[in-house]
Amino acid sequence: MTKSFCFRNRPIKIVATIGPAACLPDGSPDEAKLTALFEAGVDVARLNFSHGTHAEHGARYHMIREISKKTGRQISVIGDLQGPKLRLGTFANKSVDLKEGQAFRLDLDTKTPGTEIRVSMPHPEIFAAAEAGKTLLLDDGKVRLKILKVGKDFMETEVVAGTRISDRKGVNVPDFILPLSPFTPKDIADLDFILDLGVDWVFQSFVQRPEDVQEGLDRIKGRAPLLIKLEKPQAIQNLEAIMELADGFMVARGDLGVEMPPEDVPQVQKRIVREARRIGKPVIVATQMLESMITAPTPTRAEASDVATAVYDGADAIMLSAESAAGSYPIESVQMMDRIARRTQEDPMYRTNLAAQKYPLQNTAADAITAAAYQAAETVGAKAIVVYTLSGQTALRAARERPSVPILVLTSRLETARRLVLSFGLCPVFTEDVSNFDGMVQGAVRAAEQSGLAGPGDKIVITSGVPFKQAGSTNILHVATIPGGKKSAESGCSSTCGCHGGKKK
Ligand code: PGA
Ligand code: MN
Repeated sequence: MTKSFCFRNRPIKIVATIGPAACLPDGSPDEAKLTALFEAGVDVARLNFSHGTHAEHGARYHMIREISKKTGRQISVIGDLQGPKLRLGTFANKSVDLKEGQAFRLDLDTKTPGTEIRVSMPHPEIFAAAEAGKTLLLDDGKVRLKILKVGKDFMETEVVAGTRISDRKGVNVPDFILPLSPFTPKDIADLDFILDLGVDWVFQSFVQRPEDVQEGLDRIKGRAPLLIKLEKPQAIQNLEAIMELADGFMVARGDLGVEMPPEDVPQVQKRIVREARRIGKPVIVATQMLESMITAPTPTRAEASDVATAVYDGADAIMLSAESAAGSYPIESVQMMDRIARRTQEDPMYRTNLAAQKYPLQNTAADAITAAAYQAAETVGAKAIVVYTLSGQTALRAARERPSVPILVLTSRLETARRLVLSFGLCPVFTEDVSNFDGMVQGAVRAAEQSGLAGPGDKIVITSGVPFKQAGSTNILHVATIPGGKKSAESGCSSTCGCHGGKKK
């Protein structure tokens, strides 16, 4: 049996942020390091536009596509837009030490580098909306400032907690809503760039309202699917409406956990994963999953447990941020995530948990066929479910069932193959269109064998649609046996698969 080129015996997918840790000192991609990341278990590559230049991201993008070609494995590439992230300006000496109780001033003077007593914060909207008595958080909440006095271009504050702050650290305003456009001029330029590159997913940051998502959709115009990062408490208040509009989700716990008390984040995480599974769109659990591996070769016990929780909950993917982008142990972080996921899925409780969360089907032929395929696969002990799809919609419905067998997705649209890599249990293969029933069965059998998922005598369950080559037509369910084995000989089949019913009878 050939080595499985896409399915790693791990239905949950690993997203890794690609950054300096996989590059040469000049920022250009290091092919050996990048290849090692994918070999270690990365399924999806995230280019984070909060850092790096277009030239750097472009070079990394093309190198990833090369690696995908060389390994024969589809890799999904994400362009993650920074969004309206608020940041401080810079300091004369890169960082300053603050003392609790001291005064600290913020202003719009970006020309003068910051000191122990002041720094620039180039966001007039904050000064316009702020009020005395409210709180400002710096550097993911590590520094807390109480606002004492506000003018239109300055703010006097008192340091309530925190001692050190450095260049361009993030600013959060948990107490008041800022009338921010969801796309900054930088986001608009970055979006043009990533759509021209041909990324498989666009990630939109700091979504607050359904209108923000609609603006994302309007700007992308169908050129890529849109995944939204859920990282604002305002978005959680309107969760279902926002999730209905987007194509996928990230539980972005980094920013979410700054503006929301940490004790609220776990249940929000579970709520988002449940809702994503109910509507059948991919969801990623992200940030600080193996945080201590930025500087250490092993994770904390709590981090291992956190990765396992996302696996038990049936998330589509788990993500590495600085661990893979800028840490000292990028490969080890991927290997560790992969090991925790594999180990966890061996626990009988894993399947029990997934099965306990079943959501009602839609009254469509696609859902009826998909659910029946899952049943059929369990009943005959199939090695894979093979799904023919053009738009990818049927594959998403199949992933939604969280079946225990891998789902081999055959599609003649390269962009469909690539975007589906993110979803639970899907192993997308870019293939030719089929035009008749025999071609459908033979194509499925060949792909199941070539992918290493099934060998002679093994059964596979196939779903497809007639008319062929038409999206949204799924209405065929077929069980086939891979020819050549003992079982297939016993059942009296010839070496082609056309004898398993259907058109020939
Ligand atoms: P970021 O998003 O890494 O782009 O900030 C993820 C998060 O906030 O958790
Ligand atoms: Mn974020």
